[in-house]
Parts: sequence; C-alpha cells; structure tokens
Amino acid sequence: MSRLETLISEPELARRCDELAREIEAVYGDEPVLLLGVLKGSFVFLADLARRLGPGTTVDFVQISSYGGEKQSSGVFHLRKDHDANIEGRHVLIVEDIVDTGLTLLRLRELLQTRRPLSLRVVAMLSKPEARRHEALVDFVGFEIPNQFVVGYGLDHAERYRNLPYIALLHD
Ligand code: 5GP
Repeated sequence: MSRLETLISEPELARRCDELAREIEAVYGDEPVLLLGVLKGSFVFLADLARRLGPGTTVDFVQISSYGGEKQSSGVFHLRKDHDANIEGRHVLIVEDIVDTGLTLLRLRELLQTRRPLSLRVVAMLSKPEARRHEALVDFVGFEIPNQFVVGYGLDHAERYRNLPYIALLHD
C-alpha cells in the first residue's frame, strides 16, 4: 500500500500562485501572453495561474510522452500533441508541472524556438534542482523540492492522484 505525506499544502500552493502571477505580470505588463500547458500534469496549475492573470491571456496545450507507470524518466522526448495556435510573433509562456532532469523542457524549448515566438519563457510549479542533468532554463519557479517522487495538484502515478488538491510525497 502506498502512503501519501503532504509536502506542500493547498493554502501554500494558492499563496505561491498569487505571487507567481504578480511576478509574471511584472515581466509582461499589459502584453498578451499565450500560456502553453504541458499535458497532463500542468492542468491544475495552469487553471490556477490563468485565473490570476489579465484578460489578454490565452491558453493552449502540448502533450509529451510520459513516464508511463514508472517513477523514472524514460529519457525519450516524443511530442504526442502539438499546440493548435500559431505562436509566431507571440509571447509564449510554457507552463510545466515539474522540472526533473530538464530533458523535456530542453527539447520543448528547442522545438518551439524554431517557430519564432516573440519571446519564450517557462514557469514551473516545482523544480528538483538535485535531479537536473540538462541545462534547462526556468524563468519562474513555484517551489524547489527534494529529489523525491511527488503526486497531486495535476501530478500522477499511473494516472492516479492528479486530483489531490495538494502536493504529496508518495511512499511505497
Ligand atoms: P524531466 O524531463 O525534467 O526529467 O521530466 C519532466 C516530467 O517528468 C514532468 O513534466 C513530469 O511529468 C514527470 N515527473 C518528474 N518528476 C516527477 C515526480 O516527482 N512526480 C510525477 N508525478 N511526475 C514527475
């Protein structure tokens, strides 16, 4: 039986989302921003963030091949779903759930850059600095966490726990 241990509570997540929205607005001002969520893990964070940003905000998604049922990264980058909007000449803010080794973000940045956005930045709710193996630039980070497997607030293990309203460590 797996056991859940709260790492970041619901009020802490809400408070940090408020702050992140202010940090993001300080950078873009009134310019319209396209939030590009990375499915599926970012859907809760993106919804919370989007509702704190101004009326020029739009939303789109990409999906990248996942860990499957594993707790370790497969190290493979495969784009399963591309974005619908044309991003050329637009401010694009990638919305990530968690940056682990950094490979996903590095590859995604490389791909999107070829499509000539006006600017390309990244906001990640969580980051595991100890796990980083690839130079992946993250412009806004919610929380830095230890190198342990977490679930909740959009993050899953074999598709479970995405609907937990807080972030938890998953113990075997
Ligand atoms: P990276 O390419 O940075 O190694 O992996 C990024 C992706 O791996 C994240 O978007 C997320 O889907 C998944 N991932 C990394 N660490 C965790 C974790 O602790 N829990 C869960 N549920 N997924 C993770």
